[in-house]
Amino acid sequence: MIEAEGLTKFYGHIGAIRNVSFKIDKGEVVGFLGPNGAGKSTTLRILTCYMPPSSGMARVEGLDVIENSLQIRQKIGYLPESVPLYKDLTVRRFLRFAASSKGVEAKRMNAEVSRVISACGLEKNAGRIVGNLSKGFRQRVGLAQALLNDPSVLILDEPTIGLDPGHIIEIRRLIQELRGDRTILLSSHILPEVAQLCQRVIIINKGEIVATDSPTNLTSQLQKTVKIVLEVSGPTHEFAQAIENLTGVEKVSQVSNGTSKFVIETDPSTDIRPEIAAMAVQKGCGLLELRTIQLSLEDIFMQLVTEEPSGEGAKS
Ligand code: ADP
Repeated sequence: MIEAEGLTKFYGHIGAIRNVSFKIDKGEVVGFLGPNGAGKSTTLRILTCYMPPSSGMARVEGLDVIENSLQIRQKIGYLPESVPLYKDLTVRRFLRFAASSKGVEAKRMNAEVSRVISACGLEKNAGRIVGNLSKGFRQRVGLAQALLNDPSVLILDEPTIGLDPGHIIEIRRLIQELRGDRTILLSSHILPEVAQLCQRVIIINKGEIVATDSPTNLTSQLQKTVKIVLEVSGPTHEFAQAIENLTGVEKVSQVSNGTSKFVIETDPSTDIRPEIAAMAVQKGCGLLELRTIQLSLEDIFMQLVTEEPSGEGAKS
């Protein structure tokens, strides 16, 4: 479980995050989404005890990040944005070193290191020097290091950044396999990645949390209007005018001059498609197309990060 309450961090005079609060329950997989510079790494560094907040408090598995930082660091798995790998060591030796600093006992060492090597598909590279590996494989070593001691909480900072498409798919697959009992907080600026891997999304922009919900709820709650695409044959002008007068219709616009295709914006609380269909019959028009356009999470994200953080309707 992870709790953040009023976290604020200044780097000198620069305010990186302001009053960041959220709670992540045990076993949840949560995406921490925001554009570059939004404050994701800063928040994660505080949660993983690499840096104290300027004010506010955070707890991981009930332990305070300031008072119990050593215990938290041993308990959690953290994949920082750039992993401080010891590049002259072999993969296995690096992982043994990381395991001992995480408090893995000598008698469990070999088994534990082999377990994470296999979990991250590193068997063939275990004897290679870390510095000679490709970026994708180094990232797997970083993930393997985070998995040492089987942590109940995993914090992954932009786990696929800078990787080629093949490695991105592979790392996402590994993360998918890690779900289960673990609590996972994963930061990303890539929306489809978060939508694919996470049950819940926390969106941060300019150092402030602007929304937190499931991808589906975010999409439906923040959708201010529903758009319906309509194409008809016959007396279209008269038909369009009649639709404008239906309850719940906010705007009717022709897709382009001279076409019989329209976009109808309606109040999201009612579905007026049956009324539109009935109206088409009544006016003697042929119904060629009638469908709603779903606002994608991408649209919502863009809406949130381009509005002021305190924008109405953005907070949940
Ligand atoms: P993100 O991870 O979302 O890209 P960061 O947490 O890295 O965002 O950065 C948030 C803000 O804090 C940015 O404006 C960034 O320039 C600033 N920042 C981050 N690290 C430092 C630092 N060590 N010193 C000064 N400013 C920093």
